[in-house]
Amino acid sequence: MEQTEKIYDVIVIGAGPGGMTAALYASRSNLSTLMLERGVPGGEMINTAEIENYPGFKSILGPELAERMYESSMQFGAQHAYGDVKRIVIDGDYRIVEAGKKSYKTRAIIIATGSHHRKLGVPGEEQYNGRGVSYCAVCDGAFFKGKKLAVIGGGDSAVEEGTYLTQFAEVNIVHRRDALRAQKIIQDRAFKNEKVSFTWDSFVEEIKGDGQKVTGVVIRNKHTNEITENAVDGVFIYVGILPQSDAFLDLGITDEEGWIITNEHMETAVPGIFAIGDVRQKLLRQITTAVGDGGEAGNRAFSYIEGLHDRLAAAEAAAETAD
Ligand code: FAD
Ligand code: NAP
Repeated sequence: MEQTEKIYDVIVIGAGPGGMTAALYASRSNLSTLMLERGVPGGEMINTAEIENYPGFKSILGPELAERMYESSMQFGAQHAYGDVKRIVIDGDYRIVEAGKKSYKTRAIIIATGSHHRKLGVPGEEQYNGRGVSYCAVCDGAFFKGKKLAVIGGGDSAVEEGTYLTQFAEVNIVHRRDALRAQKIIQDRAFKNEKVSFTWDSFVEEIKGDGQKVTGVVIRNKHTNEITENAVDGVFIYVGILPQSDAFLDLGITDEEGWIITNEHMETAVPGIFAIGDVRQKLLRQITTAVGDGGEAGNRAFSYIEGLHDRLAAAEAAAETAD
């Protein structure tokens, strides 16, 4: 593995709204900052059509907000490089970030790796993934013009993305309870939309296809156990999210589900390692909260590194006195 010569003050892992804000704050505090990202900067915002709960914008397209945040994050000298981080190693006061064939030495790390979608785990889901099964309305919605779709889930993602999909298709939202989890404003829009219908108290048992593409969903009502097969051309699955924290499990900083535990200053149990945004154990996962976490962590990283320098200077002074 090739280790880069430079020692960074801060390495930010992940370039979603959280990571980009952390890079902005750290670099603006004059810390040498590297942001590693394994995909396109922007995180989940890249896959979001319209955002209307980010202050300052009545409504803004996800990719546009991502681009604006990226420009902000780079304006005080932070660097951005491709890197799929697999492991962090502790080496005294240094932390080593391993990403593919490269490793990077740093004093502090801010983990901002977000979450990924949970799978439904039913027959047909894997087989028809990309052939009618999708987890991204913005990416795949336009393929279903004039068609019928099932959207699975009752949270913000299912209801908001389901409503978005009505510009292309008729949408049936299948939810396992009789009440939605989504924010009220998102629910109200869906209830008012004539192209959205609901199947309540029901589980998807199977996604059916003709070998090439999706043709229907098999649904079981949880009260009556009645099974029905609805003819649909596509199935969009939004049944929750899981933390992207595999690379950090051996640090002992996660809960039993893999969410990273921090205090209110975004500090994990390992000094010099901070975690922010969706990957963190918390209640409200939004762009605004990821951004807030990022500001706090960038600021705290500065204090941590100052403390390291003070400790080093004190140790050197003590050694000189002893001589
Ligand atoms: P993310 O945005 O998930 O970014 C994490 C980044 O880390 C990704 O770019 C990923 O590639 C990278 N990464 C992961 N692992 C590694 C690794 N090992 N090495 C290197 N890079 C890595 N919130 C709102 O406020 N308003 C909305 O309208 C809204 N709409 C949404 C619509 C959908 C469909 C979804 C799924 C979410 C929506 N959210 C919305 C929630 C919001 O997108 C998230 O809360 C927010 O993006 C979290 O930011 P983050 O920086 O923590 O993580
Ligand atoms: P979520 O809030 O966890 O909702 C997941 C939904 O899927 C729930 O309704 C849940 O049912 C259902 N579900 C879970 N497992 C299931 C299974 N095995 N079978 C059938 N249904 C299942 O996830 P999300 O909607 O993806 O949202 C993730 C985060 O992003 C949230 O913090 C959300 O606020 C945020 N987000 C925000 C916005 C916005 O602000 N505009 C938009 C999208 C997402 P129950 O309700 O019965 O638990």
